[in-house]
Amino acid sequence: MGDLCDPEDVDQLVYLAKQNVNPETKKVEKLPRRCLWWVHEEDGRRLRNLPKEQMATSRHCIGTFLGTDAAVTKVAITECNNDEPWYPTAYILPKELPLLKKKMAGRKPTWWIAKPRDDYGGSGMKAYNGKMKEFKELINSKKAKTCVVQSYIPNPLLISGYKFHFRMYTILSGVLDKFECYLVKHGTALYSTEAFRNDDDTLGDNFDPYIHLTNWSINFTKKNLERLVKKKPFIGRGCETTLAEALRAIKRENPTFDVKDFWRQMEVICARSMYKISQWKRVKSFRRENFERPRFENFGIDLMMDTDFKVWLLEANTQVGLNPGFEPFPDLNCKHPLCIENGCMECNGIKNVRYQKNNDVMRTTIGATIDLMQLDVPASRRDEIIPKTIVPLHPLIDDELKAKFGAMSTRTEKKAQKVVPTETSG
Ligand SMILES: [Zn+2]
Repeated sequence: MGDLCDPEDVDQLVYLAKQNVNPETKKVEKLPRRCLWWVHEEDGRRLRNLPKEQMATSRHCIGTFLGTDAAVTKVAITECNNDEPWYPTAYILPKELPLLKKKMAGRKPTWWIAKPRDDYGGSGMKAYNGKMKEFKELINSKKAKTCVVQSYIPNPLLISGYKFHFRMYTILSGVLDKFECYLVKHGTALYSTEAFRNDDDTLGDNFDPYIHLTNWSINFTKKNLERLVKKKPFIGRGCETTLAEALRAIKRENPTFDVKDFWRQMEVICARSMYKISQWKRVKSFRRENFERPRFENFGIDLMMDTDFKVWLLEANTQVGLNPGFEPFPDLNCKHPLCIENGCMECNGIKNVRYQKNNDVMRTTIGATIDLMQLDVPASRRDEIIPKTIVPLHPLIDDELKAKFGAMSTRTEKKAQKVVPTETSG
């Protein structure tokens, strides 16, 4: 396949994309027969210098669609999924403050989680009881301008007393009217590192992130090392297990749990949310680029389950870290300059016995993606073989959803086409 690009060298990327004359040898340098560009959207934009191509004969395959980063912000995901029964209702403040207040006015207690607009990894998140003074202050304050307030699931299913969420991976391989998407059948479960309880003294101003938040970036830190390396029931040291291990533990602790139903919910949620991402207005605005050559993109979908085994969508992420994890936990004595919150390759801390298994999930995702894209097969013959580790989601999209999200864009397009002749003929 050729050599890997230097991730630190953006000039090299642009240079390769232009396929220019080498400034030193003065020779026109040729790229390999097939060229895979596994990049994030930001770098994907730098590839606009690649020669024009056609899908069926394209030599280049790019690991990102354009416009998808904008489709996964908290606001965009809320706009698309707020009417879905598997999305915890969210309110975009201050615009929807009256709606939120109406919801809070009922007799039933309410719980809320407030997230800064485009933050990720759980930083800045706090959960509240709707009755709390600090919550009322927050939603009425000026700070609320950068806030999405979402219904907080008060009854998460626990494993050995700990809260967790599922991290699943999808492979998007076609957008707009060519929507094509797959769910990887492996995944991970990410855990909090302090046993769960939903009492008021863990919420609001006393918010305890290690009880309520399951984000890896919060729990797998030097700051949280003591809880992280503590041998917890079932989880052991660390804060993640594979999906398969989690499902077995759930079944063991809850004999009525139905794994088939879990997968049914998972597929529906991933299919519908991915379809909406693939139809987002920014994706459409890059229509030409997105259809010029084969593209794919890996997404990380975060979901949780409540005590009724109902699965809820939390968020979707682009730019997922498919890099392998390190064997040791973060080491407080590590002096490496790049060793910040989550540890580094040089750390010499306690060994994480699960790291191989967790890396296998990344490997499966990467392997399935490469097999799916079949870089040595012409794009026109590509969909004949589907790897066993993934399941197609696009057949699950019904006409109703297409009419609501997909056809809208086609209709506007037709309208636009009709308008053009009258404008130019005059
Ligand atoms: Zn280190």
